[in-house]
Amino acid sequence: MNENEMSVSRRIIQYANELDGVSRERRRDFHRYPEMAWYEMRTSAIIAGILTGLGYEVLTGRQVCLEGARVGLPTEEQLREHAQRALEQGAPAEFLTEDMKEGYTGVIGILRCGEGPVVGLRFDIDALGLMEDETLKHRPYAEGFYSRNSGWMHGCGHDGHAAIGLGTAEVLMKIRDELHGTVKLIFQPGEEGAKGARAIVAHGHLDDVDYFVGTHVAPSGGPDDGDVTPGTWGSLASSRYDVYFHGQTAHAGGFPEKGRSAIVAAANAVLNLTAIPRHSEGITRVNVGTIRGGTGRNVIPDEAMIQMEVRGGTTDIIRYMDGEARRVCQAAAQLNGCTCEMVSQGTSESQESDVDFLEWIAGIVEKDLPHLRISSVRNAQNWGSEDISLMMNRVQENGGKATYMRSVTAMASAQHTTAFDFDEKVLTEGIETFSVIVYELLREQPGRPI
Ligand SMILES: [Zn+2]
Repeated sequence: MNENEMSVSRRIIQYANELDGVSRERRRDFHRYPEMAWYEMRTSAIIAGILTGLGYEVLTGRQVCLEGARVGLPTEEQLREHAQRALEQGAPAEFLTEDMKEGYTGVIGILRCGEGPVVGLRFDIDALGLMEDETLKHRPYAEGFYSRNSGWMHGCGHDGHAAIGLGTAEVLMKIRDELHGTVKLIFQPGEEGAKGARAIVAHGHLDDVDYFVGTHVAPSGGPDDGDVTPGTWGSLASSRYDVYFHGQTAHAGGFPEKGRSAIVAAANAVLNLTAIPRHSEGITRVNVGTIRGGTGRNVIPDEAMIQMEVRGGTTDIIRYMDGEARRVCQAAAQLNGCTCEMVSQGTSESQESDVDFLEWIAGIVEKDLPHLRISSVRNAQNWGSEDISLMMNRVQENGGKATYMRSVTAMASAQHTTAFDFDEKVLTEGIETFSVIVYELLREQPGRPI
């Protein structure tokens, strides 16, 4: 059978399988050099290089994230130091732009194939602050692709997401003659801590998207009992702050009345954040994760800082939690004669996949990829927080369809743990899944879900 006689879905399966070795190598390369939010310079430069080589229209730097819309940034010095390290670790210099060195990471690849709808796919690319297991029972260590950036680790699978995105880009380019419309591959920085999506949405990249799909690797053996779970719902909306309390220093023995303790203000804030009344309409969460302050036992401390977050089951509930948290911190500062400054470290919204769209995807996967099984719960519940919600909500507000899938695979250890690793067969499966979805949405005479 030659290429023309073979169905497009068969070609997609063949191309994805031909890429299997390359996809595993890419994943391991990203795993070896993990980069946290806004440091994804090596990762972005490699992605930009590959997409450019394939013939994509490539956006990088300030073309991806709107200036002024990024939150949770490292210092300029930290970024400068890492840019040097990224080069030393093999970032292609011609694609490591000045913008990237300033922390404008993330890449968008666009493939225009004439008239038709716009399909947006999202792949997050950042790593976690985690010390990777360096024992021989951990495969990345035993096989030599463990993190060389000590203290950073791909412990959530975003190295795999990046590799799936690149493989999908290759397959779609090979079948471009079959497509009628536009594909946008969004390689998003800073998903951890919900930092990156906001700046991409603010730039307007989701405004013209008609169909939007993302995925996350998920463990087999749990509620996801297939290879693909085509939709998820209910991620908690979240809001995170670094809160700085400023007081007045004084000698604690000599002139205590002249001091204003920032630690006391912070302590009052911690207790009262925990006392925010629960909401009758849904889930709420609050946590103060770190606290620090002061300089010495006999000095009234003029500086204290907490890192806190609130979450809520709906956008209304997160507005309530966010408002209460701000009120409590300001009031605690005022109560103790201090001031307080709240620096946002990221937000996410709650999210719903479109049921007609995820059911359509289930049908496409069953038809075109019969070797993959759809999970019995097709629209599964999420408990984490995910800033893909911001992208989905923007698409849905404009009348588009969106879903956030799960790509199910065996895992060596839970996500966000030091011994996390996954079965790389999910890379080829993910590429197949994204490619058939795009093909069926943009083919001639599609049976689209709207
Ligand atoms: Zn993740």
